[in-house]
Amino acid sequence: MTSEVEKKYRRIEDLPSIGPSTASKLRELGFHTVESLAMATIRELVQAGIGEKRAFEIINAARASSSLSFIRADELIEKRQNILRLTTGSKKLDALLGGGIETQSITEFYGEYGSGKSQIAHQLCVNVQLPIERGGLEGGALYIDTENTFRIERISQMARHVGLDPQETFRNIILAEAYTSDHQMFLLENADKIIKENNIKLIIIDSLTAHFRSEYIGRESLAERQQKLNQHMHKLIRLARAFNAVAFVTNQVMSSPDVFFGDSVRPIGGHIVAHTSHTRIYLRKAGRGLVRIARLVSSPYLPEGECVFKITENGIEDVEED
Ligand code: ADP
Ligand code: MG
Repeated sequence: MTSEVEKKYRRIEDLPSIGPSTASKLRELGFHTVESLAMATIRELVQAGIGEKRAFEIINAARASSSLSFIRADELIEKRQNILRLTTGSKKLDALLGGGIETQSITEFYGEYGSGKSQIAHQLCVNVQLPIERGGLEGGALYIDTENTFRIERISQMARHVGLDPQETFRNIILAEAYTSDHQMFLLENADKIIKENNIKLIIIDSLTAHFRSEYIGRESLAERQQKLNQHMHKLIRLARAFNAVAFVTNQVMSSPDVFFGDSVRPIGGHIVAHTSHTRIYLRKAGRGLVRIARLVSSPYLPEGECVFKITENGIEDVEED
């Protein structure tokens, strides 16, 4: 591998041909870091009034600086080795996921209301703060809450259970309430600086699809909705890769009249969400108790499978064996 300049740029102003006014325009568009510029498209920069040729140069310089360029397959193995795994709190669920929820890709949990998606999200906000040897990522969480379901009291219970100080735990969770789908997109587009400054290792969007579903109604708006969702999810992947973070999204289900056998529900978002989420888990209640069933529906390299876990006062836990 030959790379001519192995120069490291710390701030976006340090990149060649970015002056203060271009820098402020880029920030307005959500590019606060060299890492996010490395993953920008030329079109995105042209919107900042930057010429195509200069946009190309800026992106290339940012890429060289963040060592995000062509890699050989053996180096890919090394990059895969950088993938970290975050524990869910249940050993069975971790095993189903191949050892926990991995960084650098999107993991989607979908299921009916009350199936436990937000409970898992809360648990991950706590677990991400744990040391690596306990299944954590020694980082913070960014929680984009679209349904006003984040509960600090729940974090407190879960933190105590794993032996973390609740006050300390709260300090490492950044909350962002999204009022509309556009606002939700805006928050994520401007998240890179917050992620970097707070050592965020977990980005949650709970729920990914609720605003989109309620705002874009009818056939004629479907194409636009899908295009927006696609853009939103690609931004999420780019952030997860740039910062080696877990991207965790939740999604609702709707009943599908075309299914006669098996489960008659399917997740919202159609092909876009299905293909952009790397790992998908379908959650459902098992009767009226605490027990939940998780089904791994799709994964780039793991077999389909199921496991059970429970939601208790303490958080996400394994079901005791008889
Ligand atoms: P979803 O986000 O999938 O709609 P939630 O994650 O909000 O669902 O799950 C809500 C359920 O989690 C409740 O119905 C309850 O069964 C369980 N739950 C919430 N808090 C507690 C708690 N403190 N102790 C035990 N179970 C709880
Ligand atoms: Mg929820």
